[in-house]
Amino acid sequence: MGLFDRLKNFKKQLDKVETSIYTGKQSFLEVYELNLKLEAEIAQRTKELDTANQQMLTLQHILDMMNSSKPLSSVLNAIVTSLQGELGYLHSCIAKKMIDGHGEYLKMMAYSGSMFEAIFRSTFNCEPSEKRFIYPDLNEVYDAIDNDTIYTSKDIIKLVKSTLYDVSDEIIRKELNRTGTRSYILIPLTYNQSHFGSLVVFSSREDATENELKFLKLFSKQIELAITIAGLFQTVKEQAVTDGMTGLYNRRYFEEFVQKEAIRSKRQNTKFSIIGIDLDYLKKINDKFGHNYGDMAIKAISEVLKSSCRTIDIAARMGGEEFNVILPGVDTQGGLIFAERIRKTIESIPLEKIGHITASIGVGTYMEHSDDIDELEELVDHAMYESKRGGRNRVTVAKPASETSWQDVAINAFTDILSKHRIPLDKRTSNMLNKKLQEMNINNDMLYQVSDTLISTYNPDHIAGVTKKKVILATLLAKRFELPKENIDKLKIAILLYDIGNTMLPKDILAKKTPLSDEERDSIKQHPLIAAREILKPISDIGDIIPIIEKHHENWNGSGYPEHLSGDNIPIESQIILIVDSYFALIEDRPYRKAMSNQDAIKTILVESGTKWSVALADEFASVINNEDFND
Ligand code: GH3
Ligand code: MG
Repeated sequence: MGLFDRLKNFKKQLDKVETSIYTGKQSFLEVYELNLKLEAEIAQRTKELDTANQQMLTLQHILDMMNSSKPLSSVLNAIVTSLQGELGYLHSCIAKKMIDGHGEYLKMMAYSGSMFEAIFRSTFNCEPSEKRFIYPDLNEVYDAIDNDTIYTSKDIIKLVKSTLYDVSDEIIRKELNRTGTRSYILIPLTYNQSHFGSLVVFSSREDATENELKFLKLFSKQIELAITIAGLFQTVKEQAVTDGMTGLYNRRYFEEFVQKEAIRSKRQNTKFSIIGIDLDYLKKINDKFGHNYGDMAIKAISEVLKSSCRTIDIAARMGGEEFNVILPGVDTQGGLIFAERIRKTIESIPLEKIGHITASIGVGTYMEHSDDIDELEELVDHAMYESKRGGRNRVTVAKPASETSWQDVAINAFTDILSKHRIPLDKRTSNMLNKKLQEMNINNDMLYQVSDTLISTYNPDHIAGVTKKKVILATLLAKRFELPKENIDKLKIAILLYDIGNTMLPKDILAKKTPLSDEERDSIKQHPLIAAREILKPISDIGDIIPIIEKHHENWNGSGYPEHLSGDNIPIESQIILIVDSYFALIEDRPYRKAMSNQDAIKTILVESGTKWSVALADEFASVINNEDFND
């Protein structure tokens, strides 16, 4: 082979090598490129996963919030805060479209610190919520809200100016550049089928991706759910502690609060006052103008209380036309000033048709008048009641509890009866009652139980709890007749003891299935009274209660016994016991007849007006029974 041929051959081989190198290089480049692509895609997918993860976390945050019973305002704040800095959102807020005489505007309900705060602090030195808003042209935004559609825009200045009306464009622009804010997205929120507000997120990106909008939509649904749940919690909570008609706290909340306040007060050695307020002559207002006007008078008082109270004070509607206010840290002097102020305000308000109303007020102070809450409430009630007796529209300060309360007197009497075996009682019952009476903190209910137990030893049909009802009913009646506190206290003791003589009666007579013959009745009717005197006479402190008990079978027309007293010669306390006792006898089963219904019992009571009791007493009785709920 010649040189030329060899060269040609060599060239061919060279070309071949070159081609194969080229194709190798080619495929290498291809693989390389493919690798880069794959890497980019992995990075993209990782980023998307991160975003999805972050979105999940943000949603989780909202879900967590929904499981707590936080108030709505903190739920909203937590929502906007949870979005800030996530997913490229620099700030977020919830704004509500409002309307007033000047037009539409956006009101900030919650915001995520940063931008708004920074601008406000530097410009006005105040918080955003304190500033009133003005309304630049935001019609597009308002339309989006009205149409419930998502709205995105790069014109942040216009939006920001709707809340920061006298900040210059330049300040806002500087702030936007500093924070890198490029656009905002507004997502309307609905609650109860109406516009609740809009979630606004300020983004570091110029444009929103479709995925992002999808997420924000989903997110806004979660917010709506959180708002619904927070709203429900709030309603339920408010319903449980407030009075529907006035919006004041209810009795339950008052009782809870006063217990806590007493503990706090003792620990910190501070006082607090309770003000008891009762509207005067509401019955007359109802009768003359109708119930709606009565309600109006009640609401007028509650408005006075609301506007007179500090934020730490608690004003409660205790029921009907009775209110209590707790003034933490306030002594009697301060309580009196508060009470006088509200009394004056109440009498000064002109009410449609009614004219002017007045209220009677009592003031009592914890650790001054009493350091027992039940006792203090009773003293305040009595002070209020003294204001009524004194002519109404006045303030009375409570008198400190006397050395011996009516409860103490009753405890002594029962202890004496039991320990001296003045009545026939089996040992077990006697021991049980003695133990009850020796407890440190004996309360009214325990006293009523002792009385109920004694009654049930001779009356198997006796219903537990009746003694308490008798005391409440008798007290209300006594108040209608404006008896002084001392007499009401005696009446309460008398109610606990007036039937004690029955324990001495032969059981066969009490259990007879037929009504007693006149002869039988005459022979036995005075026995319980005589027995009662014998049982009670030796007991000290109750000397003035025995006559009340002895006369509780005298009738208004003189047909009663033992002295045939009539009219006002019968002590009013005895008259009250007679009518109360008769009523509860009527609504209880007896061996010889069935129990009557409440209404039938009242009718029977009214039939005997003028004979067994006075017309006035029977009328007041019917009114008290109909007004008060004795069945709870
Ligand atoms: P006093 O000056 O002694 O307080 O007389 P009063 O008529 O205000 O008080 P009384 O306790 O004799 O009667 C209260 C009346 O208030 C009886 C009841 O029918 C009425 N009342 C209770 N709650 C309401 C209410 O929510 N609305 C209205 N309109 N009346 C009520
Ligand atoms: Mg009243």
